[in-house]
Amino acid sequence: MVDLSITGGTLVIPGVGVQRAGLAVDRGRVMAIGAEGTLPAARRTVEASGLHVFPGFIDPHVHLGQVLGFEKELRTESRSALAGGITTLGIHVRKLQGSYLPEMEATIKAVEAQASTDVFYHLQLFTPEQVAEVPQYARAFGVTSFKAYMCGMAGFTTSVDDGLLLEAFQAVRTLGDEAILAVHCENEPLVNDALARLRQTKPEGGTLADWAESHPAIAEEEAIIRAAFLAAQAGARLYVVHLNTRLGVERLRRIRREQPGIYVETTSPYLSVTRHDPIGLLGKMVLPLRDTEDVEALWAGVRDDVIDTFGTDNTGRPRAGKQPEKGMWEARTGYPVLGTHVPVLLHEGYHRRGIPLVKLAEKGALNPARIFGLYPRKGTIAVGGDADLVLVDLEREEVVDPSVLHSFTDWSLWEGKRLKGWPVMTVRGGVVAAEGHRLLVEPGGVTYLRRAPSRSPQ
Ligand SMILES: [Zn+2]
Repeated sequence: MVDLSITGGTLVIPGVGVQRAGLAVDRGRVMAIGAEGTLPAARRTVEASGLHVFPGFIDPHVHLGQVLGFEKELRTESRSALAGGITTLGIHVRKLQGSYLPEMEATIKAVEAQASTDVFYHLQLFTPEQVAEVPQYARAFGVTSFKAYMCGMAGFTTSVDDGLLLEAFQAVRTLGDEAILAVHCENEPLVNDALARLRQTKPEGGTLADWAESHPAIAEEEAIIRAAFLAAQAGARLYVVHLNTRLGVERLRRIRREQPGIYVETTSPYLSVTRHDPIGLLGKMVLPLRDTEDVEALWAGVRDDVIDTFGTDNTGRPRAGKQPEKGMWEARTGYPVLGTHVPVLLHEGYHRRGIPLVKLAEKGALNPARIFGLYPRKGTIAVGGDADLVLVDLEREEVVDPSVLHSFTDWSLWEGKRLKGWPVMTVRGGVVAAEGHRLLVEPGGVTYLRRAPSRSPQ
């Protein structure tokens, strides 16, 4: 007798295909996949006729704690993720000065007590001390992915210069082939120039459309070239976060033909919302929302695999905290997008553009797991893997209502818009954890995912 079986559904197995089959789950893991008559008896059976069963989505790019602090936002936003079909979060952890070592144990304990999804960390590197401690972070806390900013953001982050960026790639390289440096690729002087020019032409502020001028596409493209060059010098792997321009897609298409070890992420907002959206300054973000041609270039990059992963860059902020009424300069950046990630990919990708479901599963689950050292435990549906699954009703249409999405925030980029294709059940670690918009588990009881460097750090 096993814990759970899921019958009658269609499995979407990345790298394999779409197939009618049942699943048996026991002690948190998938223990059998096959024709329904062949599965062992289960204590609970979920009837999934008409539904598609995906691996739990992995959002590799999340920011928490800008407003309420890390623990509180971890608690609410991971619930929003779970109800929305995301079972693992890659959290970008930020400390502008000083070592990460003193707080790591406590934040990991907080994850295990407060989160509703499994979690892994990317530590952001800002100082030579932090770069020097990369081997310790790997050894003591199983962190094998790190992040650096080539361009700072006033009030949020500082940047690293090219010298420290190269050192960061070299430090990551010492951990072996599975370690990786995520990079915010933008040329800082070009961004600063663009911001100064926009201050002159729009001193009183502008619109969401104007805000896109503040971070020109060539700043992303140039920094991608430089980051790829420095990664190659170090022999390290590079992960380009939140790609959002046509120029960036086209440049990476050329670079990736010649240089292995480069991986590329875009986000569900960049795949679906433009700077002309009626959401206005509520949609202010760095990088900014752009044009239809950029959105379509990103989808082209999804089709031909220039883009590997879908993240969110979720940065929750309530409507009042966004201050859109104070104008373009005073409005704050960030948006809460965990609860809509999967429906947006299904609506915009599958329904509107015919992107195959397996491709969505590949970039939404398999590739993040592979790139960040979580595969084969995570990222697919396979015997022995964690039973993280999301049952999707492709035909279900819902008008986005932020009040049912479990975030501490109170708005959505898609509020009032109808999306087609919604998760109707999330299974996390073999347990039915969410049904519809209802959560069936308490916070905690999740795993902080330690990853093993392939080369033992000195
Ligand atoms: Zn980010």
